[in-house]
Amino acid sequence: MARKFGYMNDVDQLIEQTRVDQVLAHYALPLPDRNSGEHRMKCVFNESCSDSQYGNLTVRLDDPINRIYCHTCQVRGNLLTLIHGLEKHSPPAGGRLRGDEFKSAVTKLREIAGQPDSKAASTHARNDSVNPTPQARSQGSASDSTPSIPKLINVPLRRHEKEAARALATLHEELVTDTAQMSPEAAQYLRKRPWMTPELMQKWGVGWIPGNGRS
Ligand SMILES: [Zn+2]
Repeated sequence: MARKFGYMNDVDQLIEQTRVDQVLAHYALPLPDRNSGEHRMKCVFNESCSDSQYGNLTVRLDDPINRIYCHTCQVRGNLLTLIHGLEKHSPPAGGRLRGDEFKSAVTKLREIAGQPDSKAASTHARNDSVNPTPQARSQGSASDSTPSIPKLINVPLRRHEKEAARALATLHEELVTDTAQMSPEAAQYLRKRPWMTPELMQKWGVGWIPGNGRS
């Protein structure tokens, strides 16, 4: 890119132009299905979300502004918020990215997008984060309602001392919810129950496990 942009414009463009699969590939995560408008993944902000039946982070592939939303901890944001979560495994400290957290997420985004960190970034960042763009403001109001994160009491399955119990924690990742990929018996069971849509099954964490006896 030969043209010069103001820092925030530049960052907004970078956020819009960087694809979700570029970010996921950088962290060696499964890539989204190109035929789908949404991608589901393990929550990157709170490990306890994985233990909830709603523990899915939804990534909207066609909406760079409202890019991500966790159904359990309700953290939402854009690609920078996702990168922050992937790096720190925690939500933005103030409910939304600002200050140093914002800057380091931008640096990481530039690295992923193959752009060198510009000098302009450090000189203009302070001013611009005090006067956020309208886009940044609307994200701020959405995160004002972010609830505090509940404390974990139970030992999460994935940290359980028994191997078999730990295996259960990742069982949902193997769930098949597309009848075309199931055994004939499983597909027939679902065809008789048309209300069990793939979306509902993912939400509830039910589905067919490819024949390894764990179901
Ligand atoms: Zn979450």
